[in-house]
Amino acid sequence: MAGVAIDEDIGSANGEMSLERRLKALISETGPIPVSTWMTLCLHDPHEGYYATDPGLGRDFITAPETSQAFGELIGLWCVEEWRAMGAPDPFILCELGPGRGTLMADALRAASVAPDFLSAMQLVLIEASPTLQSKQTDALVGHRPVFVESLEDVPAGPALILGNEFLDCLPARQFVQTESGWQERVIGIDETGGFVFGLAAADIPAEAHAAPGQEVDLQPGLDTLVAALAARQSPMCALFIDYGETDAAPGDTVRAYRDNAQVDPLSRPGWCDITVDVDFGRLARLAGEAGLDVAGPVMQGPFLGALGIQARMHQLIQANRDQASAIHRAIAQLVEPDKMGARFKVIGLSSPGLPPMTGLG
Ligand code: SAH
Repeated sequence: MAGVAIDEDIGSANGEMSLERRLKALISETGPIPVSTWMTLCLHDPHEGYYATDPGLGRDFITAPETSQAFGELIGLWCVEEWRAMGAPDPFILCELGPGRGTLMADALRAASVAPDFLSAMQLVLIEASPTLQSKQTDALVGHRPVFVESLEDVPAGPALILGNEFLDCLPARQFVQTESGWQERVIGIDETGGFVFGLAAADIPAEAHAAPGQEVDLQPGLDTLVAALAARQSPMCALFIDYGETDAAPGDTVRAYRDNAQVDPLSRPGWCDITVDVDFGRLARLAGEAGLDVAGPVMQGPFLGALGIQARMHQLIQANRDQASAIHRAIAQLVEPDKMGARFKVIGLSSPGLPPMTGLG
């Protein structure tokens, strides 16, 4: 199994049949499948899954590290600071979940070169489900000898800093709908014309789901797995996750698919589009607290980057590249302005108990 929380057996997929035909065969055999199963197979099927074969970073969506180098650089400096706050352990693990093209980490480690002791103590560990992206990450981080592991549980023991930008939104969600006759789960079946169609089915509903009639709740089982793996670490650990979602309301009906920067039908052409869900930061914070971790934030991305000094970094970049001043300015605005990524994206810190407060999350 690749990465955290892929709970379906994608390894048994038969590559001779198209993903669409295999999904239809699965549904004919077992009945309609939960949205989480659909997401897992469409994203990670080894033969046709979106991330496994044709991840559209830059084509279907643009992330913060791909928007401005300042994003990764500030996170790199943040890592150095948190490492010192941990007592500068040597060796320690720097781990990233879902590193995409490796841009965040490359920018972070370039900025962290102000602290050679940090770089020489670091062992870089990456968790990446997509073989295509793994090879891009290897190229981008060639001087840092990254080691790939399959899941957080496989990260070697020892003090660790853990990062994930736009990773949590990929973790498949189950969707529960409160109907007049009670809770049901959104599933995907086959209609009379042979096409995929959403429907509702009876299901075991987690006790924590609540919503008014007509409302729904998206629940990512992967958040539970993630928190359990973080809480199981025996050495000091500090994790930072950045993603889109709400802090005070459980997301409902937020599963969305994208292709070529446009929203598309998630049931159209399995494996062809990215499928994501809003992250329930309130739930993540609650799970982490219950597991005994310290929780910092969530705070909005704009103020977080402001506290890390993004304005000063922007001025430096403009000084050094005067002919690109307006593009640099525009990119930073994209990251911090409340009507762009600054408010919709949240930042949360989860750490083993007793470490000093994390920078930027107070
Ligand atoms: N962090 C990058 C990329 C975000 S896209 C950036 O900010 O640009 C999501 C990333 O998570 C991709 O690299 C994708 O392949 C990876 N991913 C998604 N689900 C995963 C899983 N279950 N395990 C490991 N990696 C996963």
